[in-house]
Amino acid sequence: MDEPLQIGQTIGILGGGQLGRMLAMAAARLGFHVHIYEPSAAPAGEVAQSTTTAPYDDLDALEAFARSVDVVTYEFENVPAEALDRIEQLVPFRPNRTALAVSQDRLTEKTYLRDIGLDVAPFAQVDAGADDASARLAQALAETGMPAILKTRRFGYDGKGQARIMDTHGAQAALDAIGGHDAILEGFVDFRREISVIAARGVDDRIACFEPGENVHKGGILHTTTVPAAIDSETRARAFGIAGTILAALDYIGVLGVELFETDDGLIVNEIAPRVHNSGHWTEAGAVTDQFEQHIRAVAGWPLVDPVRHSDVVMTNLIGDDLTQVPAISGETGARLHLYGKAEARPGRKMGHVTRVTGPAKDRIG
Ligand code: AMP
Repeated sequence: MDEPLQIGQTIGILGGGQLGRMLAMAAARLGFHVHIYEPSAAPAGEVAQSTTTAPYDDLDALEAFARSVDVVTYEFENVPAEALDRIEQLVPFRPNRTALAVSQDRLTEKTYLRDIGLDVAPFAQVDAGADDASARLAQALAETGMPAILKTRRFGYDGKGQARIMDTHGAQAALDAIGGHDAILEGFVDFRREISVIAARGVDDRIACFEPGENVHKGGILHTTTVPAAIDSETRARAFGIAGTILAALDYIGVLGVELFETDDGLIVNEIAPRVHNSGHWTEAGAVTDQFEQHIRAVAGWPLVDPVRHSDVVMTNLIGDDLTQVPAISGETGARLHLYGKAEARPGRKMGHVTRVTGPAKDRIG
């Protein structure tokens, strides 16, 4: 696809959760149609023209989906390789396969980021299912130092599939906690704060970054993002430089989330997400164009826009029972509420978010 998508053409989205839903709404605002592919009934289907409900290994359903759309993007990273092979033969797939492959596996990701010259935590591979897993973990601990975090290589999110190791006694418990899956051991980074950059790259190679936000997690799940982050201008410029390096190295098209640790010795990349990101939800209320529209623009081959920020904001996730706060929040001045339409509020489930404007953006617009 060399030509930009025309109004009325269709964007296919793999994954029907809240990210897919917000992407679909942004696409509709630009006059596109949206087709969601998702294994079960999910929030995005409610706001899209078409939905295919089928598993990711149903190659016939995937082929019919790919034939019915003009470009495919995704909100879900763990799409099986065979499914992508089938889609890619029929329609442009953005962001590309490399971005997906790199971020599906924490070991591949850390290795890739290190090899393109970025600072990451010390890490080592641990085959946790091997007969001599304990010896392998001891060897890995010698490489990373302690404390350390053992993480499953794949399918971890919101702090799941992770175990901290504070001393040698904790090693076996960590191995038990991750249940024999292939793992990566990371040295513990003594960070001042966690920040993230939501960055985009267009078909013309242009890169545009939103203001870095400062993230606070609770129980492994993002709780708040405060914008701007309390970092100095040098760190901010370095964060943008890191995001630009990754986007260019991956020949990326779309929005990418980059999570960073600020330490006394500079910025360390924690992980990347090849999609719109929870820590970018603030852009709906704090910037002229939000991350969802920026992503749709990029994958549609439209020009990116300057991600001009007009307000200082704090985004708070509404998780599980937090939904009971909605009546109070819904009357609050300066609070933009976004609910995902999920029927059941289970503990740990992201039900919505609220972004509170805390003042006009001062010195850091754009
Ligand atoms: P992750 O799933 O890798 O984003 O990890 C979830 C959270 O665990 C991060 O947001 C950090 O708060 C913490 N964490 C992950 N890796 C490290 C590390 N190497 N050092 C210190 N804290 C970490």
